[in-house]
Amino acid sequence: MLDTISSLIKCKCPKCHRGNLFIYSNPYRIKRVVEMPEECSCCGQKTEPEPGFYYKAMYCTYIIWVTIFVMNFLVLGLWLDLSPFSFISLYTIQLIILLPFIFRYARVIHIYISVKYDKNAIYKHPNKVMRSSTHKPID
Ligand SMILES: [Zn+2]
Repeated sequence: MLDTISSLIKCKCPKCHRGNLFIYSNPYRIKRVVEMPEECSCCGQKTEPEPGFYYKAMYCTYIIWVTIFVMNFLVLGLWLDLSPFSFISLYTIQLIILLPFIFRYARVIHIYISVKYDKNAIYKHPNKVMRSSTHKPID
């Protein structure tokens, strides 16, 4: 379970927990924020299992946004007792800053829900070159 959470946070493949889900590790490359390889370099898992797979990630995006809103409301609205204008301003700034992460993690959460971990996945993949090496994403 902790391994799965760690791999999810690091945006690793849900099947093998080794390959990278995104080509570019820097989420602030805005034009390339959600570019993913066609398949995992370690186990061959397709990063888009079916056409339109990531349309469903919009629900994950919504859940993340609502979670951030509730946390902001509890801390900024109730605890620090900020005015509604200050609250909305800070919330908007946070969303703008976190937007690339929100897009990425919505996809990652969605694929982790859909694809199960297989500890032998890398041994089933015919690409033996990537088994022992660690694939580094482009910055
Ligand atoms: Zn993989």
